[in-house]
Amino acid sequence: MVDPRLLPLDPHKLPPPSEWFAPDAERHLLDKPGFCPSCGASFDLGIVTEYWLADDRIFFSWCGSCSWTGNVIHVERAIIFEQEH
Ligand SMILES: [Zn+2]
Repeated sequence: MVDPRLLPLDPHKLPPPSEWFAPDAERHLLDKPGFCPSCGASFDLGIVTEYWLADDRIFFSWCGSCSWTGNVIHVERAIIFEQEH
């Protein structure tokens, strides 16, 4: 469990630590995307809900500024190739 003082402010109160889903609620608060990938506006005026598909954590998101709707997938680690300059 993360020190509650390190968690960002959220209008929804976290469940009591004794609840079975408390660690998931805490991770959601820490990892959910904060800004729209289309226009860059804060998701404070949008909706971000999370679901799981196998090992993937998927944040289904709607932007209240530009109405973009889509999935943002949390990735723990990625291996990418960069072209030489
Ligand atoms: Zn947007």
